[in-house]
Amino acid sequence: MVKELLNFTSMSIPKIDNLEICKVTDDILLVHQKEVPFFFSCCDGLLILPKEGRNKTLIILDLNIEPKYIEKIDTIYGPVSNYVCTHAHIDHTSHVYAWEQLGAKIHAPDPEANFLLNLHNFYRGFGFDESIEYSSIEKFGELNGFHKCNYVNSFKPGETLKFENFIVDTIPFSGHSKAHIGFLIPQDKVFHISCLGFDKPEPGIDGFGPWYGFRDASISQYIKDINQAESIFLSNAKFLTSSHSYIINHPNTHPFEYMRKKIMVNQVKVDNVLKTSKFLTKSEDEAVNQLLKLDIFFPKKKLKDFLLEIYSLWESWIIRKHIQRSEHFNK
Ligand SMILES: [Zn+2]
Repeated sequence: MVKELLNFTSMSIPKIDNLEICKVTDDILLVHQKEVPFFFSCCDGLLILPKEGRNKTLIILDLNIEPKYIEKIDTIYGPVSNYVCTHAHIDHTSHVYAWEQLGAKIHAPDPEANFLLNLHNFYRGFGFDESIEYSSIEKFGELNGFHKCNYVNSFKPGETLKFENFIVDTIPFSGHSKAHIGFLIPQDKVFHISCLGFDKPEPGIDGFGPWYGFRDASISQYIKDINQAESIFLSNAKFLTSSHSYIINHPNTHPFEYMRKKIMVNQVKVDNVLKTSKFLTKSEDEAVNQLLKLDIFFPKKKLKDFLLEIYSLWESWIIRKHIQRSEHFNK
């Protein structure tokens, strides 16, 4: 058994079609599914390979990829014992059931752990029920391949989790969603900031940046989270990984500058519209609706049906949060 365990660390990285697998350390790998069924169906995550004295079985941190790839990883590195989810947005939950079917115990942070058990919980918990029919969320779940898990162990954001001798600190980053956490693996100095908003597919190509298109997301908390993540990275980690980007080595602070800048640029986009005097007499709701029509964040012209409803709801929350922070809006 010991011999087998040692083999993993010296083994070259397997080639699996449509997966990009990168070594963060000798025995921690970052996995990315390249082509995905839909924009919100997958997220990158970490494989904690079996290692003598640490963990005899595979541990997965937030790797939501299609079941056919989950099976391939399990064949090479399994059996899998534990899976930790970072929050319950659908790009982090849709295929978790496939890890559970392979025998993994599923862990997820409160208050979103039960969203993995039932799409209704996801629907109500994220406030979709305020303006969207459940059938739209069902279609959205289907589009992203969502299937429910049977049992989820919940933990509090901020708790330290221990599986055999593998220890991972969960770091609350609640600006993105109430449950949202990052992972700090102190022994290996790996820091995974999950969905905080460093989402560049490669250096030189921007993504959307921090995402706060939900009722319970908060821009001011987001800025605190980014600053806290930066200080954790600089003082406690060597490697930075995230759900939708590449590996960053200490002490590169580009991810944090990128995220802060994205929020600032979004604020300027909203401010520039609000500056025009026609908004002076409008209510907040009227201003949100007016800005929504301008497509300043998402081009919605080609969207139809449930996707139009969902994108409009997300964008309305992004706009509302910036209106509330704007010095150009008459409160
Ligand atoms: Zn998310």
